[in-house]
Amino acid sequence: MSSLFPALTDAPGPRPALRFGDRALTYAELAAAAGAVGARVRDQERVAVWATPALETAVAVVGALLAGVSVVPLNPRSGGTELGHILADSAPSLVLAAPGDELPGVLAGSRRVDVDVRERGPVPAEDGRAGDEDPALIVYTSGTTGPPKGAVIPRRAVAHTLDALADAWAWTAGDVLVHGLPLFHVHGLVLGTLGPLRRGGSVRHLGRFTTEGVARELSDGATMLFGVPTMYHRIAEALPDSPELAGALAGARLLVSGSAALPVHDHERIAAATGRRVIERYGMTETLMNTSVRADGEARAGTVGPPLPGVGLRLVEEDGTPLTAYDGESVGEIQVRGPNLFTRYLNRPDATAAAFTGDGWFRTGDMAVRDPDGSVRIVGRKATDLIKSGGYKIGAGEIENALLEHPGVREAAVTGEPDADLGERIVAWIVPADPAAPPGTEELAGHVAGRLAPHKRPRVVRLLDALPRNEMGKIMKRALPQGDPAAEG
Ligand code: ATP
Ligand code: MG
Repeated sequence: MSSLFPALTDAPGPRPALRFGDRALTYAELAAAAGAVGARVRDQERVAVWATPALETAVAVVGALLAGVSVVPLNPRSGGTELGHILADSAPSLVLAAPGDELPGVLAGSRRVDVDVRERGPVPAEDGRAGDEDPALIVYTSGTTGPPKGAVIPRRAVAHTLDALADAWAWTAGDVLVHGLPLFHVHGLVLGTLGPLRRGGSVRHLGRFTTEGVARELSDGATMLFGVPTMYHRIAEALPDSPELAGALAGARLLVSGSAALPVHDHERIAAATGRRVIERYGMTETLMNTSVRADGEARAGTVGPPLPGVGLRLVEEDGTPLTAYDGESVGEIQVRGPNLFTRYLNRPDATAAAFTGDGWFRTGDMAVRDPDGSVRIVGRKATDLIKSGGYKIGAGEIENALLEHPGVREAAVTGEPDADLGERIVAWIVPADPAAPPGTEELAGHVAGRLAPHKRPRVVRLLDALPRNEMGKIMKRALPQGDPAAEG
């Protein structure tokens, strides 16, 4: 196929490509370093990359992709059991790692190849022998709803999704991205690393996300920020005390959030303090990006925008009937199709078959409504966020948003649990702002009933010190403690 990274394969020059901390590579240097990796892996079919937030990881992935070799990014923070599963499942022939990295015992049997970012190799003119449908990446899902599954992502999907985002975001070679995300999921790897390189722009990775780092880079020429909602929450919390941060965000071209729903409260606080609205995009490991608010569109809190160019999207009722009205009310499961989709789950023909409808649409498991202008508003996941209570179907997300607006609530997650009268009762898991004076059940029920509707009020409030979250900041509802009546407030 044509190159995934024309800026690297056609006469790469001295323009900046990547910076991680104080180490940086120009396009010419990155092309040569990637060429050296390519020369070492070109006979392999599939390699793993020990995906620390470091220059070596980006060089390893780009080097393999330019050689036409597919990549399994490994999360350095996964435990031995999960890593062991991923290694057995994906069977990479070697592991690329930075020279100083200590690899855990489960990798002892794997051949290791060190990545030297100063090594120089021939820059390939095209991406190895790879075709459009050949796998580029095998990325494991976040494991929010069950054990992670390996999604086989073809090169065509990577190219398509990045070009569709470029259209939606007016993303160009002039853009400089501030990046603070891990490199083993789609968000940080495909969007945050491969995206700028496909455009010919550049990336500055913070290593570890800090609001100070964001303020510094956006004041120093960076134009865009990609983050997960927990990062925007930290930004919202820091803004009242940091005019530098407010000024830096006000000057950015684009602030983008994804991977989970951005709470309305954080969206509004950032807008009030900076005059800028964070735009949300919605995607999955299996589908890459499906929708996004456009750079020139209206960023309303809680909406993830219209489908991206080339992406087919429909909402489907429980009986399989597609919804036709964009009425902002009728809830259906999001199903998608298009060139952004994965090909299959690795070694899981059962899961692959179950994920598609008879006529070829991918079932996302996410529930949404569509507004009259075509924008999608996600209500929550079918499996964990839809509560059937008193004859109503209630989305957890809007209740979480309402709870987060209460000054006594720092974090909130809403679930349903069996109830003899209601079918399911609404349970609010709360991290209180002040552990010494947590808001009570009646107080929070009144707060929610006043904002939404009486049947959406939580019947039970349980207090926690922290919500269980994964490394992307996603709330792991399946890891919430089993109900403990003694903790009910
Ligand atoms: P697993 O599939 O293993 O349970 P996961 O679904 O969290 O984990 P990912 O593929 O990383 O794994 O995440 C995709 C999911 O993230 C989507 O299905 C959706 O539920 C959620 N998501 C992504 N972006 C948004 C967004 N902007 N708003 C709301 N939810 C989002
Ligand atoms: Mg999923």
